[in-house]
Amino acid sequence: MIKEFEFIRPLNAQVSEEEIILDLKSVAKQLAKESVTQLAYSKLGKYDYTTVSRKFGTWNKALKIANLSFSNESNISDERLYENILKIWQHFGRQPRRRDLTSEISEFSQSPYNRRFMTWTNTLQSFVDYANGEDLKMPNPNANANDINNKLKIGRDPSLRLRYRVLQRDYFTCKQCGASPSKNPNVVLHIDHIIPWSKNGETVLENLQTLCSDCNLGKSNL
Ligand SMILES: [Zn+2]
Repeated sequence: MIKEFEFIRPLNAQVSEEEIILDLKSVAKQLAKESVTQLAYSKLGKYDYTTVSRKFGTWNKALKIANLSFSNESNISDERLYENILKIWQHFGRQPRRRDLTSEISEFSQSPYNRRFMTWTNTLQSFVDYANGEDLKMPNPNANANDINNKLKIGRDPSLRLRYRVLQRDYFTCKQCGASPSKNPNVVLHIDHIIPWSKNGETVLENLQTLCSDCNLGKSNL
């Protein structure tokens, strides 16, 4: 997930899983450690860490395949901790439980959350407060909606707050067929632009909806 103010190297879309695993192992060897954090990898790795997570689904899955242990970083930003909460929420279609952090979908173990928020209740409360806060990426109501520069500034990818609001509004359920990961764990939810971004649809609450991957792919094949 690309965030603002974060330096991202050019994405290596063509890199194979084998190359990534080899590079993860080589970085672990350089560090003389059993695990590689995303932070350490962003300094020493050949590829962008977001490429690694995207290829394998999660950072921890890549570590597992490379026979490395799960990362236990100490300097994880609140934004990344919150992103992980939303990712788990979206995956299960329900409010995350503490033990979900041990599942493969989670980027982080319980430790960074305990260090930062002390209790799980406090973690969820802080997440919800953050997610319901003002969104700086929401369009300026005084700006002309057809102003292409304004639209480009908002961008195609909805912010965490916007994604959370869309999913909450839609009850973590596909708007088209009603599928929900809370009932069927194979359901994968996507955030979809109702009017496609390529056709000038905006990244705003009213133009976004929750779709399952089947309905979303069916839509893009039309
Ligand atoms: Zn659906």
